[in-house]
Amino acid sequence: MFKACQIFVRSLTMSAAKIPEVVFVLGGPGAGKGTQCNNIVQKYGYVHLSAGDLLREERTKPNSEFGELIENHILNGTIVPVEITCSLLDRAMQNSKNPNKKFMIDGFPRNEDNLQGWTKAMTGKAEIKGVFFFDCSKEKCMERCLNRGKKGSGRSDDNEDTLRKRLDNYVTDTVPIIEHYENLGLVYKFNSMQSPKNVFLDVQEAIEKIGW
Ligand code: UDP
Ligand code: MG
Repeated sequence: MFKACQIFVRSLTMSAAKIPEVVFVLGGPGAGKGTQCNNIVQKYGYVHLSAGDLLREERTKPNSEFGELIENHILNGTIVPVEITCSLLDRAMQNSKNPNKKFMIDGFPRNEDNLQGWTKAMTGKAEIKGVFFFDCSKEKCMERCLNRGKKGSGRSDDNEDTLRKRLDNYVTDTVPIIEHYENLGLVYKFNSMQSPKNVFLDVQEAIEKIGW
């Protein structure tokens, strides 16, 4: 009887459970996505999932069948097939112990393949509350990433050659994705050439607007 009650209560709480809420965080390399996501984690306690970090983590697993493929994409500044990235994101969301169920997905979706793959796999499993777009000039992005590389970011892709490709792919592949979400009225655009502190003031306003 006790067991039956337990199962009943669990199924009730499960059906009442809200689907995770997602904010996509986009902008060029070095635009400040990670910095601002960390600020949001500190102030609000929401979950920061960096697609790039998840791929880098997967790459280093000795038994990963995708390690080499991921490393090649990262070095060339090209985009990993969505099945891999999306399943890493889905798994990270499911494994999250954070009761908030509010996720900032940083650096995704980056191209049409990412967008299609996410829509196919995640429709009904996550609600997109907004897209935070950190707008920064190409020159500034380059300067910041090169500095980050010099200071020892340890990232194989913080070099001028790869950065040029990352920036080109950002313009040709990611900007149209931001425009797609702009047409849906989901984009919050920030001038991320300002100091991190001032950018965060704008970010907090956007968080209020989406009711987070
Ligand atoms: N990447 C990818 N799919 C993603 C996110 C990242 O293929 O959804 C790869 C891609 O090669 C990219 C690299 O990981 O150039 C670094 O991405 P990250 O988001 O860490 O770079 P950032 O924009 O933060 O500098
Ligand atoms: Mg990043």
